[in-house]
Amino acid sequence: MKVAIIGAGLAGLRCGQVLQAAGVSVSWFEKSRAVAGRMSAKRLWGGHVDLGAQYFTARNPAFIQQVHQWQQAGLVAPWLGSIYRYQDNHLVASPDSELRYVGMPAMHSPLRANVPDTAIQLNCRITELQYTDNWQLTASDGSQFTGFDQLVLAIPPAQARNLLTIDTGLQQQLPSQLLLPCHAVALQLSQAISHEAAAIFVRQGPLCWAARHSSKPGRLTEHQQWVLHFNAGYSQQHVDTAAEQLISVAASELSTMLAEPVQVKDSCHHRWLYASVANPAEQPGLLKSDQLPCLVIGDWCFGGRVENAWLAGQAAAEELLNG
Ligand code: FAD
Ligand code: NAD
Repeated sequence: MKVAIIGAGLAGLRCGQVLQAAGVSVSWFEKSRAVAGRMSAKRLWGGHVDLGAQYFTARNPAFIQQVHQWQQAGLVAPWLGSIYRYQDNHLVASPDSELRYVGMPAMHSPLRANVPDTAIQLNCRITELQYTDNWQLTASDGSQFTGFDQLVLAIPPAQARNLLTIDTGLQQQLPSQLLLPCHAVALQLSQAISHEAAAIFVRQGPLCWAARHSSKPGRLTEHQQWVLHFNAGYSQQHVDTAAEQLISVAASELSTMLAEPVQVKDSCHHRWLYASVANPAEQPGLLKSDQLPCLVIGDWCFGGRVENAWLAGQAAAEELLNG
């Protein structure tokens, strides 16, 4: 069996790795210049800054086992900083017993270790699909890839909809508006904030999250760095707002929350168009075509989050191997 996987985020990578271990021939196609998708960190200020996924939890026994393997390999570590909540104009400590993990030294590290280079086409955006006895994929630069028995689209539903123009019966099943956007801002400060908070769940105003990036294990600590996320509603309403304005709002909100001046030495912005699921209870599961050998998967199948991306990849591989 020859399988093509479009998308080398955690779901696509996990799916392909399980298939390869079972002797299946796998080819990945990824539009970015590196794997990891929404777990990618940005090369910045002499290190990497996590602008997408901030941490992950592990609740499913199989994923817990995977996380332990990554931890033994030094690719992830627990992040043990003090958690706060900002609500009703108050910043309050909000400790809990949840174990939160981060990739080491960047969020993408467990995904970029041991990736089989030869089987992955990077900088390769698939723009067209055709099926006649087998799958034929066309990339944006005109390259063609043929001869695949099975196709897995491990991408957000809106991107899958754009690709699935031939009749698979999946168009109608793909949920619309399931993944919402998120503006992310990173700030490098010229003067460190003294407050002990490592992370803040923000429950008012335009933000939903603030993290002292330099409090994560394995990160650079010379200058304090913060990562701030705007909530989905604000990000949607301000989807085209200029980066400078968002950075200014983020710095001002951080200063208000911590009641300390925030002196920005440098900054960076990233817009994620498909970030978080609108309603984690909406879980369509793996989408499988009745008409053609094709699956559509991603974190969104099971409610979003890193753990669910891994579980979706695992489930898709099992579906292909066991039918
Ligand atoms: P993705 O990582 O989106 O992978 C899809 C891949 O497909 C991408 O690499 C993309 O480039 C590629 N692709 C798309 N279209 C094409 C095409 N036509 N051709 C080729 N390649 C294509 N989760 C948590 O558990 N904890 C968090 O703290 C957390 N915070 C987050 C914060 C932000 C800002 C964001 C954006 C996400 C966050 N998440 C968090 C969610 C987490 O990142 C995702 O659940 C997980 O990474 C999704 O993996 P995936 O493989 O399903 O999808
Ligand atoms: P988790 O259990 O730490 O968080 C789940 C949710 O519970 C949080 O969003 C928060 O609202 C709340 N929460 C947890 N601990 C808290 C505390 N000590 N004080 C106050 N509130 C607390 O982790 P999870 O279930 O693995 O969820 C992953 C996280 O990733 C969530 O926070 C989710 O919102 C976030 N996420 C963010 C985006 C984005 O676009 N910014 C995208 C996907 C996921």
